[in-house]
Amino acid sequence: MKVPMLDLSEQYATLRDEMLQTLDEVMKSSRFILGDNVKKLEQDVATYSNVPYGIGVANGSDALHIALQASGITAGDEVITTPFTFFATAGAIARCNATPVFVDIDPVTFNIDPARIEEKITDKTKAIMPVHLYGQCSDMDPIMEIAKKHNLYVIEDAAQAIGATYKGNTVGQLSDAATYSFFPTKNLGAYGDAGMIVTKHEDLAEKMRVIRVHGSKPKYYHHVLGYNSRLDEMQAAILNVKFPHLNDWSEKRRKIANRYTELLKASLGEQVVTPVEVEGNYHVFHQYTIRVEKRDELQKFLGEQGVSTMIYYPQPLHLQPVFKDLGYKEGDFPITEKAAKEAISLPMFPELTEEQQKYVVECVTKFYQ
Ligand SMILES: *Cc1c(COP(=O)(O)O)cnc(C)c1O
Repeated sequence: MKVPMLDLSEQYATLRDEMLQTLDEVMKSSRFILGDNVKKLEQDVATYSNVPYGIGVANGSDALHIALQASGITAGDEVITTPFTFFATAGAIARCNATPVFVDIDPVTFNIDPARIEEKITDKTKAIMPVHLYGQCSDMDPIMEIAKKHNLYVIEDAAQAIGATYKGNTVGQLSDAATYSFFPTKNLGAYGDAGMIVTKHEDLAEKMRVIRVHGSKPKYYHHVLGYNSRLDEMQAAILNVKFPHLNDWSEKRRKIANRYTELLKASLGEQVVTPVEVEGNYHVFHQYTIRVEKRDELQKFLGEQGVSTMIYYPQPLHLQPVFKDLGYKEGDFPITEKAAKEAISLPMFPELTEEQQKYVVECVTKFYQ
C-alpha cells in the first residue's frame, strides 16, 4: 500500500464542476485583480475569525510582513517569536529590518512558552508573534497579558491554524492581527499562492490595504513604501468554492487524529508521544506530529514501506545560517532542539482512509518491535 503525506485529488474530484464554472466566470468577467471574489472571501474569512476586516494578499509570508509593517515595525525594533516554525515567521521580521528574538517552546504543544517571554523584553521590543504550530493555538491569555503590560502588538501566525480556537476565541479575535496562508497544502488551500490578514483594527486594515498596492492612496500617490502583494481573483474564486467545506474538513482531521492516537497507544503505549490537545483548545490538525526516538531511521523505514512522512522542522531558526549574525548557538533553546530531532508528521488530510491509517500504524509498530 502507498500512503501519501497529502492527496488533494479526491477533494478536486468532488469540487471539479464548481471550480470549472467559477473560473470560467472569472475569465469571462475579465476582472482579475481585487474584484468581487476577493471581496467575498475577505468578508467571509473575517466573519469566520470574528473580526471586521480581512485583507487578501499574495501569500502567507507577505501577510506576516504586511501585518508587521502596518504595525510600524521597522529597523532596530525587536519582535519576539518561536524558533520552532517555518522560516517565513522570522523571515518576515527580518524583512522589516527588525530583529527576531527567539523564545523556547513548550515541549507538549511545540508552541512558544509564555513563561519565557518576559525575560526577553527590552526597550526595543515592539511585538510578539506566536505561531499556532500544527493547527493548535498558542497559549494566548498570558501572551496578551504580557503584551498589554508592555504595550506590544501581538500578531498571530495562523498559517496552519484556520478554524482553530482558544477558550472559545477564534484566531484573530484576541490579538491585533492574525495571518493565514492559503498555500495549496494548508487546511484551506488555493491552487497557487494566496494569503490573508484579519484584524479588528480599522486603522491597521486601512494601512495593510495601502501597503498591498505599492503604498498608493489615492492611486499613483505614494505616502508609504508598499509593494505588489494581492490575492488574485482566480485564487479567491477557488477558495470561495472550498471555504464552505472547511469546518467539515477540520472535523475529519480531528477524527483521523483521534484514530491515530488510539491505534498508536494500543500498539506502542509510551514508545511514541502522541499530540496533546490542550483543554479549551480546538485543534485543527494541520499536521499530526508525534515524537519518537530514532526518528530518522523510522522515516527511512516508513518510506521503504510506501508511507510518506515529513519533518517539520529539522533545523530550528536560531541555527539557520542566514541568521548567524544574531549570535545564537546550539544549546540556546534545548526544548526546540530536542523537538527538531524527535518530531515526525504522519500522513494527514481529510480523505485519508481508515485502512491507510491502520497501515501507517502497523508500519510504525513493526519498526519499534
Ligand atoms: C505556510 C506557512 C507560512 C507561509 O505561508 P506562504 O503562503 O507559504 O507564504 C508562514 N508561517 C507558517 C507557520 C507556515 O506554515
